Amino acid sequence: MIVLMKPAAPRSEIERLRAMLLTAGCDVREIESGGACVLLAEKFWAEPPTDLISQLNASEHLERVVYAGKPYKLVSSASRQERTRIVLGQCEVGGSDPVFIAGPCTISDYDSLMETAAVVSSAGACALRGGAYKATTSPYSFQGLGIEGLEMLRQVADKFGLAVVTEVLDTRRVEQVSSYADMLQVGARNMQNLDLLREVGRQTKPVLLKRAMSANVDEWLCAAEYIAKEGNEAIVLCERGIRTFERATRNTLDVSAIAVAKSLTHLPVIADPSHAAGYRRYVRQLSLAAIAAGADGLIIEVHPRPEQAIKDGAQTISTDEFAAIAETAKQISRLVRWDEMSGSGGRTRTDDPAGMNRML
Ligand code: PEP
Ligand code: MN
Repeated sequence: MIVLMKPAAPRSEIERLRAMLLTAGCDVREIESGGACVLLAEKFWAEPPTDLISQLNASEHLERVVYAGKPYKLVSSASRQERTRIVLGQCEVGGSDPVFIAGPCTISDYDSLMETAAVVSSAGACALRGGAYKATTSPYSFQGLGIEGLEMLRQVADKFGLAVVTEVLDTRRVEQVSSYADMLQVGARNMQNLDLLREVGRQTKPVLLKRAMSANVDEWLCAAEYIAKEGNEAIVLCERGIRTFERATRNTLDVSAIAVAKSLTHLPVIADPSHAAGYRRYVRQLSLAAIAAGADGLIIEVHPRPEQAIKDGAQTISTDEFAAIAETAKQISRLVRWDEMSGSGGRTRTDDPAGMNRML
């Protein structure tokens, strides 16, 4: 933190602010800049020191405070050498291969869920998704089948050896949803529901944390920090598109945020091309772009007859389309990993066991 005093600040006031910083546990160094005193305070804070900043700001002899630290710690890449890998069913999120989580937006009936699970499992999905409790924008829209949906999802997933990923909306339902799910989804609308974040942070099940439609990357990572702070560090971040001025798609897939989040944290990052696109004709391109940007996997809305899906049909793809996307995504992911291993410019590498040079 940089505390810049006004040029005429009296020594007594500088010492008072210095004492405040020392009490907060900072190492303080004093320098002079342009005739004014500057206090350089060093400390790694887990949360922004709002109280301290407002106390410093109350001094009439203060020019300004610049806080350059990150407001999260446990999820930061600085806190861990290796990347986090999270077991999900037969797969590992953040491992060497991309993971695919597929299924309907909302669970509606047993038969279509069975059909979906059969195809997505043979196409390489490791988990079945589907909402039993839905965070709908309109209160008049279908709210989900509740516990009946959870039971259906678990039964069908078990038949195909798939894991279950489903959303939990409410602190009062965390225990119930945890008893059916292998991964607890916190939806975009709940990314800053702090009580919910703390509650899923006390569970033993991994958490899929979606980015809110208007959250910046730091806010998203702070939400992850709330979960980690309670003891649960098995968190997968999910970029699902943010709200911009663009109307051609439902949201705007922030491909940069995938690369940025992977660099700022040690957590796996996946993408949801369905809610980003809003239209099924763009889901393939967004899926592949996300994988090319380094995403560790995809969560995609899939239905055997998308036009009959009870919710989000316009962005839901068919089981055949899913299989085709998964196949290409795996190839792109191999290329990305090979490129990462080779440093910048895989083309200069001479040993080429996977024959990647031929693909380039
Ligand atoms: C969903 O996955 O069905 C969903 C509601 O997603 P989001 O929270 O990203 O809108
Ligand atoms: Mn949906």
